[in-house]
Amino acid sequence: MSGGWAGSNRRHELPADWYTRIRPFVLQRDEHRCRNRIDGVVCGRPANQVDHIGDRHDHRPEMLQALCADCHGIKSSAQGNAARWAVRRQRPAERHPGLI
Ligand SMILES: [Zn+2]
Repeated sequence: MSGGWAGSNRRHELPADWYTRIRPFVLQRDEHRCRNRIDGVVCGRPANQVDHIGDRHDHRPEMLQALCADCHGIKSSAQGNAARWAVRRQRPAERHPGLI
C-alpha cells in the first residue's frame, strides 16, 4: 500500500478511498458519535457525517471528525457565512440604497 493521503492537493476532490476507508475509519474511531462542541460540551449524538476540521483538502484522520447531520449542517452554513463576510470585509463600505 502506498500513496494514501499524501499529495492530495487537488482541489475539492475527495480521495478515492474516502468512502471505502477514510470515512468509515473516522466514524469508527469517533464511535459514531458527533464530536462537535456546543459551548464546550460535546454533542455526542449519533454521527453519520465526516467533517474536515481544518482545510477541506486535508484528509488526514487527525484532521477529520465525526459529526451528526445537524451539526454538520450548522457548521457548513457557518463556514458559508464566514466566507461571505470575508468577501464583504475586503470591499469598501457601501451604503444600502434601500436603507430607511
Ligand atoms: Zn452534533
